[in-house]
Amino acid sequence: MSPSDSLATLAVRAGQQRSQFNEHAEALYLTSSFVFESAAQAAARFTGNDPGFVYSRFTNPTVAMFQDRLAALEGAESCLATASGMSAILMTAMSVLEAGDHVVCSSAVFGSTVTLFGTILGRFGVETTFVPAGDVGAWRTALRPATKLLFLETPSNPLIEIADIAAIAAVAHDADALLAVDNCFCTPALQRPLALGADLVIHSATKYLDGQGRVLGGAVCGSKRLVGEGMLPFLRTAGPSLSPFNAWVVLKGLETLELRMLAQSERALQLARWLESHPKVARVFYPGLASHPQHALAMRQQRAGGAIVSFEVRGGRDAAWKVVDGTRLISITGNLGDVKTTITHPATTTHGRISPEARAAAGISEGLVRVAVGLEAVADLQADLARGLN
Ligand SMILES: *Cc1c(COP(=O)(O)O)cnc(C)c1O
Repeated sequence: MSPSDSLATLAVRAGQQRSQFNEHAEALYLTSSFVFESAAQAAARFTGNDPGFVYSRFTNPTVAMFQDRLAALEGAESCLATASGMSAILMTAMSVLEAGDHVVCSSAVFGSTVTLFGTILGRFGVETTFVPAGDVGAWRTALRPATKLLFLETPSNPLIEIADIAAIAAVAHDADALLAVDNCFCTPALQRPLALGADLVIHSATKYLDGQGRVLGGAVCGSKRLVGEGMLPFLRTAGPSLSPFNAWVVLKGLETLELRMLAQSERALQLARWLESHPKVARVFYPGLASHPQHALAMRQQRAGGAIVSFEVRGGRDAAWKVVDGTRLISITGNLGDVKTTITHPATTTHGRISPEARAAAGISEGLVRVAVGLEAVADLQADLARGLN
């Protein structure tokens, strides 16, 4: 990806709009509606001929600052913010699909994404085929004349598999379909899918964009035609809008995004190396390690390995639970993207509802543990994990 100099500047400067008071920090506009000077101005705002603000379901100055800043970081013409990552995916589906359309989706996506495409959208006549993310041939084979959207999450969760964004974008475009990439794990600080050929980038701002585990938020970035014009009618009408307060939190979160992602990736790499040399650990899944099967692709496509490390403990579930229960510092919670390190046992939590056979087929063993590395000292994280491993 391109050098980050401009990214650093854009993260703290892009999108800011100052009021007549010339405040230095970005202002929080807690208002549901905006006042017009006349009936004529009100009419012009409602038709869209006057671009000013109307109602915070449509947009709001704080929300607009977040959208413009995130668009700049992703290299997108346009960005629309939503109340959560899931509502960003829903807005995408409701805007680009109709009954009879077909979707190809990578199988190791966020659990609610599987339910949204596999179950809920099925009731509205949209069919979805799930394919292994890394198998470019499987994406091509799954295409049908009705395929409109390819949906990819890379790196995947919890096995941190990497898929080739440029190759899958080419598959989509050969079929006149769109490629949407859920960029939650890498963020634009480490990976910019639009530059690799994707049409849409989706975010759960709840994770690294906030970075401190405070609020829910989401966003979709892409061209003005697809996002600013194509998705605004759904957002304005259906109302999965981001609250101005949450927008302000994630807007300020973007200012430290690059520093956090690089520092957390560095800690994750150190922890992964230590785990790889530990006798009780059978295998470590981290794309920054030379032992990762897609290490070369990851290093070409991403600026660093990211902050999620998974590893298989020898001794199955009992041994894995000992590691989880041995922690005193690391938080036992399903969330990730925080400066506080978190730990989960995927087989009995995030992936607990799928059958043991399906879980085994997906490679999620009983000994697997996932750590989302934060900003604590690596030595303290090692000591915390060593307690349960030894
Ligand atoms: C958390 C997450 C989502 C959903 O985001 P919410 O903000 O919780 O709705 C989508 N994709 C990925 C990869 C996630 O980790």
